Amino acid sequence: MPHSTALATPAPAAKPEPKSPAQKALEKLGLKRDIDLALHLPLRYEDETRITRLRDAREGDTIQIEAVVTACEVSFRPRRQLIVTVDDGTDTCTLRFFSFYPSQQKALAVGNRIRARGEAKGGFLGWTMLHPSFRTAGGELPTALTPVYPTVAGLPQPYLRKAVQAGLARAELSDTFAPGDLSVLDKGLGHHPLWTLRQALLFLHHPTPDVSLDTLSDHSHPAWQRLKAEELLAQQLSQLQSRRARASLRAPALTMAFPEPVGSLHNRLLATLPFALTAAQRRVSAEIANDMARHVPMHRLLQGDVGAGKTVVAALAAAICMDAGWQCALMAPTEILAEQHFRKLLGWLEPLGITTAWLTGTQKTKERRAALALIESGEAKLVVGTHAVIQDKVHFKNLALAIIDEQHRFGVAQRLALRGKLRHEAMEPHLLMMTATPIPRTLAMSYYADLDVSTLDELPPGRTPIVTKVVNDARRDEVVERIRAQIAQGRQVYWVCPLIEESEALDLTNATQTHAELSEAVRDVPTASGALAQVGLLHSRMPADEKKAVMAAFTQGHMAVLVSTTVIEVGVDVPNASLMVIEHAERFGLSQLHQLRGRVGRGAAASACVLLYSTGDAPRLGEAARERLRAMVETNDGFEIARRDLEIRGPGEFLGARQSGEAMLRFADLATDTVLLEWARKEAPMLLDQHPALAEKHVQRWLGGKSEYLKA
Ligand code: ADP
Ligand code: MG
Repeated sequence: MPHSTALATPAPAAKPEPKSPAQKALEKLGLKRDIDLALHLPLRYEDETRITRLRDAREGDTIQIEAVVTACEVSFRPRRQLIVTVDDGTDTCTLRFFSFYPSQQKALAVGNRIRARGEAKGGFLGWTMLHPSFRTAGGELPTALTPVYPTVAGLPQPYLRKAVQAGLARAELSDTFAPGDLSVLDKGLGHHPLWTLRQALLFLHHPTPDVSLDTLSDHSHPAWQRLKAEELLAQQLSQLQSRRARASLRAPALTMAFPEPVGSLHNRLLATLPFALTAAQRRVSAEIANDMARHVPMHRLLQGDVGAGKTVVAALAAAICMDAGWQCALMAPTEILAEQHFRKLLGWLEPLGITTAWLTGTQKTKERRAALALIESGEAKLVVGTHAVIQDKVHFKNLALAIIDEQHRFGVAQRLALRGKLRHEAMEPHLLMMTATPIPRTLAMSYYADLDVSTLDELPPGRTPIVTKVVNDARRDEVVERIRAQIAQGRQVYWVCPLIEESEALDLTNATQTHAELSEAVRDVPTASGALAQVGLLHSRMPADEKKAVMAAFTQGHMAVLVSTTVIEVGVDVPNASLMVIEHAERFGLSQLHQLRGRVGRGAAASACVLLYSTGDAPRLGEAARERLRAMVETNDGFEIARRDLEIRGPGEFLGARQSGEAMLRFADLATDTVLLEWARKEAPMLLDQHPALAEKHVQRWLGGKSEYLKA
């Protein structure tokens, strides 16, 4: 029996079928399951359902014609092109192709009857179409619009169409919530989106030609509403799941004795601070202390504008942790920032008898070994460092609180690694994340719904608002004059060099040149101490020691000007600095500009930020760049900046490593779909409680295995 013979000698199992380039491209788009294909929705549509007679064509219309080829020739002037004349009995039309295959040329041979679709341009010599799509005439006209899908190189539209069609036919599309559940939209949107998922998908892949194309392209059509609701619900469900999963985890309860002993570290720290806490700092500290007192790991984001005073809040949380007899770790994304934290915390806590360990990738082996030993024995109650903190070799004795500064700069894996550092009786440490990029409300409700958020919405008193000026680079000399004046008053200045994305080397040349230029320009200015002004240079390629030395010299006031690439972006705290110059400010993102500006205005002196811009060869700056600079001049408020940034860029960059592509919303738009977002927020807990199986099915359908990413 041939059949059983075939079974007896199976094909070598080790060799899977090689994938075709198109299959690989499909996977690259994330289209692996039938449902993925079914949810891959068209970008736009082509109307191939009707034939227009050339006599009825209007200038600029995209039309489909059916006509006979009357001439077909390759011309070489002004450049190589295929020129085809067709006649549909009412008029003629010239089709032009600048690139074409011999097979296409053959299909367009004289006498052939074809259907061509393109934009009709009238002109002196009659109708023309540039690069129309065409096929041999015949066959029925389709009754639905033809979908055009988002694709990638190597994945031709017809192949993708077939794959989507097949996926759509096979996918299991039964509803996880009834269309009627969406009737809340009646009020918000004024129509009746009572569509099932299946109806919505079938329609969106092949809409009937009478549909208003606007409602498809702006996603306001009821079928789109259904899909956006589905997507937002999946996001809410997945975040709710991870929140609940965390609630079942255990953490050490870091309770404060009541009444708090006068001699507690927490109390003594409060007493030694050279300032009183703001009301906002007291409020968020209490929120954090509350979380930490519970047996469930804290998962809290502390957001506060640059200069709002997050560090002291972190230190107070650390003190509570240490009072309870546990270790605390603070991790920052760059060595400079980590070092700043280290110095500050050391200054506060060392006099109170706390041993703090310092960990970074660049420290000497001996030094690191000593630090590791202190951490493992538990003698070091506090550990401060960069990514080095989460390396395998670091064994905490009893880590109970992990603090991450500038959390968006860390990836999911790194946050998970830090959480994994307490594998003690299956407990996890409490997690406090800090960010200076405030998260707009809609983002907080969607992408960050699994986090608890504390907000420092008040700056410490005595700050004078920073004045921001936008200045054309042609007036650089005036800026240099201003720098000289600041130095003469004993103040310090930052000069941030342009970001040249393509080339770190170019970045460097530029910074070096500016450094030389400024050194020359201010060398005769005496500083407050009487010595002549020094200009320092800081860039990402410098060895860590040198960076540290330069930063220290600037912090201690031995340097009047610090020229830097964007390495100073985060967290640096030098209150005497009162002028920030950002060169080629038009190349920076809005939140980055705001962060940089936040380096000044930290003392009582009036501070300024100069945004130098250059239009290059263009007559003026592009619209987005102008909007960014305008926003900087108009407001100092981090929340307002964040809101505008979201408007200009969309949510992608806010989310940093969290976005990881997968987690992004594809269909819903947070700016316009707030009604749906509110609905999803209410629906998710109901579905999860009342129909857990449907909820799980929904999450699987929409996120597959990807929801894991959301959990860190
Ligand atoms: P950020 O929130 O940007 O991390 P920092 O923690 O670096 O801000 O604080 C900015 C500066 O404000 C620091 O010099 C800090 O010591 C100071 N500061 C913090 N809280 C207060 C306060 N309540 N009163 C006065 N100064 C404060
Ligand atoms: Mg900070």
